[in-house]
Amino acid sequence: MGENLKRTDLESAIQRTRESFDTDNPTVPYIEGDGIGVDIWPAAQGVFDAVVEKAYKGQRKINWLEVLAGQKAFDNVNEWLPEETTNKFEEYGVGIKGPLTTPVGEGIRSINVSIRQIMDLYVCLRPIKYFNGIQTPTKNPQDVDITLFRENTEDVYAGKELEEGSEEVQKLNKFLKSEFGWEIREDSGIGIKPISKTATERLVRASLNYAVENNKKNLALVHKGNIMKFTEGAFRKWGYELVQEEFSDIAISWEDCNGDPGDKILIQDVIADAFLQQILVKPENFDVIATTNLNGDYASDALAAQIGGIGISPGGNINYENGKAVFEATHGTAPKYAGKDQANPGSLILSGEMMFRYMGWDEAADLTIKTMEKSILDGNVTYDLARGREEAKTLKSSEFANSLIDNLDKF
Ligand code: NAP
Repeated sequence: MGENLKRTDLESAIQRTRESFDTDNPTVPYIEGDGIGVDIWPAAQGVFDAVVEKAYKGQRKINWLEVLAGQKAFDNVNEWLPEETTNKFEEYGVGIKGPLTTPVGEGIRSINVSIRQIMDLYVCLRPIKYFNGIQTPTKNPQDVDITLFRENTEDVYAGKELEEGSEEVQKLNKFLKSEFGWEIREDSGIGIKPISKTATERLVRASLNYAVENNKKNLALVHKGNIMKFTEGAFRKWGYELVQEEFSDIAISWEDCNGDPGDKILIQDVIADAFLQQILVKPENFDVIATTNLNGDYASDALAAQIGGIGISPGGNINYENGKAVFEATHGTAPKYAGKDQANPGSLILSGEMMFRYMGWDEAADLTIKTMEKSILDGNVTYDLARGREEAKTLKSSEFANSLIDNLDKF
C-alpha cells in the first residue's frame, strides 16, 4: 500500500487522471453482470454511445472491452474473478460493471468486495439525488442531494472473521482471555473490526476535496464513536485532525465557529443512529458524508430508498491517488427478471454518468442526466418507476434506453 498523498498531491493526482482521458478513443473494460446484466448492460451501452456521439459530434468514441466476472466467468473459465479482469481494469484505469452473483458457501466471499480490495479502491462513492416525477415513500424527496463517501477497504468488511467452533476461533478466544482477560462466550464466531488512521485520512481527504470542487457547504463525519471509541471514535478524531491540518483555510468545525462557518465548509459529526433519523426529517442539512464501511452500507441504501429506490442508484469505487476506478450499479442481479428485458438500466446508466464525470467528460455526463430527467418526468419508465404513477407508460429495459436516446434530438 502506498503512502497517503496530502491535499495538494491528491488534487494533482485527480488532474492527471482527467488528463489521461482527454483522448478521443479510450478503452473502457466492462463486466456485463449476471442475472439482469444481459438486459441492462446492452441498454446502458446504447445510451453511453449515443450520448458520447451527441456530446462530441462523433469525435470521441469509447472502445468497450468485455472482461469476465461472476457466473459468466465461472461458466467460461471456471473462475469467479479471473486475474485478467482486475489486470485490465488496472491497465485502462477506469471500468464499469453490472451486478454479480455472490457464490454462496464457496470460493470468493463477494466478488465486489474482492475487486475493491485487490485494486485498493478505497472510496465507495454514492451520490443520492431525487429525479422529479418518481414516487417515493417520503414527503420531500427533492430535499435529498447528498454525496456519500464510504470507506471501502476495512471495518468489518476486511474479512477477518472466524467461525464458531473452529480451531482458530478457540485459539483466538484463549489468547484474548489470557492476554487481555476478555471473556467471550465459547460458542461465538469472532470478527475483527480494523479502522486505521491511514484509511480514515485518505477517505476524509477525498471527501473534502470533492466538497471543495463541487462548492458544497457542509460535510458530516458519520460514526458510532460513542460506543466503539478506538475504531469509530478514532475515525471521528482523525477526521477532525485532518481538516485542521490540511483544510483549515477552507473548512471549519462546528465547535470552532459556533455554527457560523462564514464562507468555509462546515464540518460536523453525527452518530450513525441519529444520522439515520436526521436524513429522514431534515435531509437538506447534509451535503457530503464521510463514513466507515458498515455505516456507509446501511446509510446509502436508506438514502436510496428515500429518493425512489435501487433502480436509479449508481456507485463508484475509486482510488483517487492512483486514479483507478470501477463504477457499478448498486443493486443485485434480480434473478427473477433476468433475460426478460424488464429491469431498470437506470442505475447502470447513472454509474456511467459518474464515470464520464470522473474522466472529465462533463458534456457527456450532463447529457446523460438531462435525458434521464426527461424520460422520468415524461413517465416513460420501466416497471419499478411506473408503480404508483397512473400516467406513466411501462417500458422494457431496451425501450427505456431508446427513450433516452430519442430525447437527445431535442437537446
Ligand atoms: P437484488 O438483485 O438487488 O434484487 C432485489 C429486488 O430489487 C428485485 O427483486 C427488484 O425488486 C429490485 N431491483 C433490483 N434491481 C433492479 C432493477 N435494475 N430494476 C428494477 N428493480 C430492481 O437483490 P437480491 O435479490 O438480494 O440479490 C440477488 C443477487 O445479487 C445475489 O446473488 C446477491 O449476492 C447479488 N448482489 C450483487 C450486488 C452487486 O453486484 N453489486 C449487490 C447486491 C446483491 P421488485 O421485485 O420489488 O421489483
